[in-house]
Amino acid sequence: MYDFKYASLTSKVLFRRGAVKSVADEVQALGAKRAIVLCTPEQVGMARQVAEYLGERCAGVYPQAVMHVPIEVARDARTYANSVSADCAVAIGGGSTVGLGKAIALESPLPIIAIPTTYAGSEMTPIYGITENSLKKTGRSPQVLPKTVIYDPELSVGLPLKMSIVSGFNAIAHAAEGLYAQDGNPVMSLMAEEGIRALANGMKQISGKQDDLDGRSSCLYGAWLCGAVLGHVGMSIHHKLCHTLGGSFNLPHAETHTIVLPHALAYNREAAPEAMARIARAIGRDDAPEGIFDMVGELGAPVALKDIGMREEDLDRACEIAMSNAYWNPRPLEQKALRRLLQDAWEGRRPSR
Ligand code: NAD
Repeated sequence: MYDFKYASLTSKVLFRRGAVKSVADEVQALGAKRAIVLCTPEQVGMARQVAEYLGERCAGVYPQAVMHVPIEVARDARTYANSVSADCAVAIGGGSTVGLGKAIALESPLPIIAIPTTYAGSEMTPIYGITENSLKKTGRSPQVLPKTVIYDPELSVGLPLKMSIVSGFNAIAHAAEGLYAQDGNPVMSLMAEEGIRALANGMKQISGKQDDLDGRSSCLYGAWLCGAVLGHVGMSIHHKLCHTLGGSFNLPHAETHTIVLPHALAYNREAAPEAMARIARAIGRDDAPEGIFDMVGELGAPVALKDIGMREEDLDRACEIAMSNAYWNPRPLEQKALRRLLQDAWEGRRPSR
């Protein structure tokens, strides 16, 4: 029997090849006149192109976005935005750049236009994160949700294949956990299953041909759906573990998600059978945890935490930290089983039934 609450978050989504060229119209549609363009130092070329499309509506380019939004960078970006009297921020890049836009919007009423170039999904969520004294604090605020999101598949063609694949699994993880979320609902489950399907198909296409635009479009479409799921419903053990591993052990974000996902799903396999069936159906395999693990290997992504810088002697501490933060999960947290999960992920062992 159905029993759910559903409150939608609203943003305008423009999805089209070449959509980035409409950025000035989108700034105007928000009633803004002076947009700053945010990017990482690596993507300054893309940002300058956006500045050209903006023409007289561009107030400047701020190319200092970095991973996990250090408070110093957030403060500097806010000062820059004030100094050029910006009334809008255009963030072109991945989760780090969108995150910087959110950090600015948190303290001032600047609307954000996000132009995602990875599959991380931050553009569809009201979740922000700022790092101070090596501690990343996250929160939710409707103020930081981008008002407009421009998805242009051409912009992700340059994302190296290795990064594209792990970014795709990062997105799949949002949808997978959305399927067994405590506050899940039928609409988000539809989006989650379709998002996983689109990414699974798209990643297969781009692994054969990195600049396959149909494949890129499919991945980006999936990223949109999975990002929306992350924005609407709560996450469980997988995201908490990845937050611990990334925050306390400095492991790379998307790679960590990719490696942990099959093991987190195996942990929840019996407690969330409907979610498992939907994930398996979306990826065209018999079993969700085994199927995701096999896909990761077939697509050439890392399968073991030991290969991305995790030390075996830190697994006990990671387990302790993960156990110390109470959160909902379809299967209650059991110290021994969680420690085994971490060991399996560290070794890169195929989860078995
Ligand atoms: P990223 O934004 O850090 O990008 C990684 C690197 O790839 C950067 O150097 C970037 O410039 C480069 N890059 C991005 N797109 C490119 C392209 N098309 N071509 C060439 N280079 C490109 O990585 P990410 O995985 O997108 O984001 C990770 C961050 O986002 C983490 O801090 C994570 O916590 C955060 N995140 C937040 C949310 C949220 O809802 N708040 C959701 C997902 C991720």
